[in-house]
Formats: sequence, C-alpha cells, structure tokens
Amino acid sequence: MPWNTDPGLFLGEVEPEGRPLWSIEAPVPDGETWVPLRQLLGELGDDQLKAAVRAIELASWRNQHRFCGVCGTPTRQRETEFAFECPRCDTEFWPRVTPAVIMLIHRGDEVLLARHARSPGPVYSCVAGFVEAGETLEEAVVREIDEEVGVRVGKPFYLGSQAWPFPHALMAAFLVPWASGDPVPDGHEILDARWFRRETLPQLPPGISIARRLIREFFQDPEI
Ligand SMILES: [Zn+2]
Repeated sequence: MPWNTDPGLFLGEVEPEGRPLWSIEAPVPDGETWVPLRQLLGELGDDQLKAAVRAIELASWRNQHRFCGVCGTPTRQRETEFAFECPRCDTEFWPRVTPAVIMLIHRGDEVLLARHARSPGPVYSCVAGFVEAGETLEEAVVREIDEEVGVRVGKPFYLGSQAWPFPHALMAAFLVPWASGDPVPDGHEILDARWFRRETLPQLPPGISIARRLIREFFQDPEI
C-alpha cells in the first residue's frame, strides 16, 4: 500500500483484544470510494464512531500545530501523551475541543425547532451555538436562544453531551422551558423557527445526533 504512515497517530487499543489502533492520512486507493464521516453517522457502531471522531479531531489538531504560535519554531509531539511542545520556548499545545451548547425549547406539549441556513434540505433542529470566551454554559444557552430565535426562557436543564467533530465541538445539550415571546428567526443563521407537536414533527437531523436525542427524550418516544 502506498500509504504514508508517518505521521500516523496512535489512538489507543481496541477492546477486548487490545489491538493497537492508528490513524493515518492516505490517498484513496484505486477502485475505492471514501466518504466524509458526516455521511456515515447512523451507520457506524458506537465504538467505530468514537474512534473515527477521535482520529479526525487529533489529525486536525496536529495539522494546525506544526509550529509554535508564540515563536514560530517547529513543535514536537510528546512521546507519552497527546500534546505538542515547543523545544525553544516550552509552550504546550493540547488537543483542541471547543465547547458548544444545543438546546430544545419546550412549551406545554410543543417544541421550538429551527431551520438552519447551513442545513441541507428542509431539516428542522434545535438551536445551537459556540460558547464565548468568559461565558458559562448556561449564559451561552440564554444568549444563543435570544440571538437566534428571540424568545425568553427559564432555567436550562442539562441532558448530556456529545463529541461532534465538525470541526472539534463538544456539544452540551439542554432542555429549556419557554418563558415568553414569539419566535423571530434572525434571518441569518436561522431561516425559520416554529412550534411543533409530536404528531406534526418535521424532518429531523440524524438519529445519532444529540439534537435528535433531545427531541426523543422530551417526547419520551424511542421511535423518534
Ligand atoms: Zn515557541
């Protein structure tokens, strides 16, 4: 195989056999078709998905930290842990994970879903956004909701989290009770926002996404 295994990244061992797992960057072999990870969501098992997410995030981090951001010297990877260091000024560079919040706003038996400008087709999903510097998760929830759909909400209830490697987000998911105001899409990131009941749910994001899990948990319906 004409694959370049240098620089490969050792990801860990696959249980239960303890086989070593590496990620490498490689050209697509003749006769094969490779697809972006996003297209495989829902088809990979949990362990495969976890390994793929880790591989993509670490490869991206490595590619973006080949040189020290302080003094420009080429960095080197530590042998014992996932970190790069600068041999000249000792600055450390750790894998990059970016916190983001995603929330399902609910009112009685309805949920507020939004059509995002970035989404393919007529998919409606939860409101989401990145946490800003100096902000708590709860403050980010309230701010993003206000900016994107313009309603006031009550106290966020934390549901769970998911690594989302597009490019390196850690999504923290919340159920959030509506308090007041009609939804007004910002017209930029959000094209439409409206209330849906269980029986009128529109096309939703992939089943494996935490957005879908929020909707499933709210309606207590494993069929969603
Ligand atoms: Zn340096």
